[in-house]
Amino acid sequence: MTTGSVQDKLELSRRVSLLEPSETLAIAAKAKELQSKGIDVVSLSAGEPDFDTPDFIKQAAADALMKGVTKYTPAVGTVELREAIARKFKRDQNLTYPIDQIIVSSGAKHSLFNVFFSLLNEGDEVLIPGPYWLSYTAMVTLAGGTSKVLATHEDTQFKLTPDILRRSLSPRTKVLVLNSPSNPTGAVYTRQELEALAEVLLDYPKVQIVSDEIYEKLIFDGAKHISIATLSSELAQRTVIVNGHSKAYAMTGWRLGYAACANKELAKAISSLQSHSTSNPTSFAQAGGVAALDQGDPEAERMCKVYQKRRDLLYGLISQIKPLKPFKPQGAFYLFVNIAETGFSSADLIQKLLEEAHVATIPGKPFGSDSHIRMSFATSEAKLEEAARRLSRWFSAR
Ligand code: PMP
Ligand code: GLU
Repeated sequence: MTTGSVQDKLELSRRVSLLEPSETLAIAAKAKELQSKGIDVVSLSAGEPDFDTPDFIKQAAADALMKGVTKYTPAVGTVELREAIARKFKRDQNLTYPIDQIIVSSGAKHSLFNVFFSLLNEGDEVLIPGPYWLSYTAMVTLAGGTSKVLATHEDTQFKLTPDILRRSLSPRTKVLVLNSPSNPTGAVYTRQELEALAEVLLDYPKVQIVSDEIYEKLIFDGAKHISIATLSSELAQRTVIVNGHSKAYAMTGWRLGYAACANKELAKAISSLQSHSTSNPTSFAQAGGVAALDQGDPEAERMCKVYQKRRDLLYGLISQIKPLKPFKPQGAFYLFVNIAETGFSSADLIQKLLEEAHVATIPGKPFGSDSHIRMSFATSEAKLEEAARRLSRWFSAR
């Protein structure tokens, strides 16, 4: 017997063999690798704030660490953090959650994973308006469900319409995913648009809503974030809201996210799942998480104003590059750019832009549209200007 043949025989689980690695993270890593080799790549890839976490948040975590907050906490997160989350929901959305229906996890990605794992059985259908954040479909597959992507259109600002929703619902539909502001399009649903969707959903009382509100605080032009859970108590009962610290408070590396479940049984299931998998999110990170929620909003607003300025800058610059047609986002920090007239697939184009123009972007294909690419503007104005200069040069040389 040779060791080689042992390797050859390894049969991975069916679940993981269906998976591709996260392309957003992979391209961001590739851009960093090129930069570390001395290649001057401007990265507009992963959606990660370039700001550092505000100092008072770091201080709260450092104080906790030095005071010995170094042990396990309750698997679902500390009482202090869950109380701060409950205060946040009351303050921002006038929603009331008992703290045993709030589960803190290691990032909103983890919260979403827990939610899908706790809700889905084999064959259950999950409606996902597309373009969508690429991890939703991967998580649904892992949990044994089936994703049904509902194509939306640029002329309805990439938003799900009541007609499309009604046509897509079936007795197999278990969950509808909503993500406003959206990654990758930056579309933001208005109250009226959500009310129109809600009217359709009232005819399908068994459908649960997973509302991913992680970009809630990154919203432009005075628009307001509305959660579908705030429209009626009936909808609140069917909605699980997922949110987290990564984007609003520039805390991606801290890995803090949370799910607020109106349904007690769902909260219990997620708690059990987490108690057998990761247990609690990092103890002292949670102390920083309390400071962020209680005192972080002025900082979040300051950063949001900067993102809006960058949005205007990048949108203006990319609009001038002939074959590119950007969609003007109202929230989050991504520019979703129509590349149909370039004649390239999104994967081919981003490869060329990375290798030849040294600008890292993300292909639209894993988000459900091969005729778009995504550019993050969570980077400095100087870098955005440089990226646009390189792209303009590259396109005009063709
Ligand atoms: N939802 C959306 C739409 C996202 O873009 C992200 C990006 N990271 C997440 C959830 C998860 O964020 P995190 O795990 O950093 O909290
Ligand atoms: N959500 C961010 C993005 O879409 C970060 C990477 C990831 O978690 O996928 O770029």
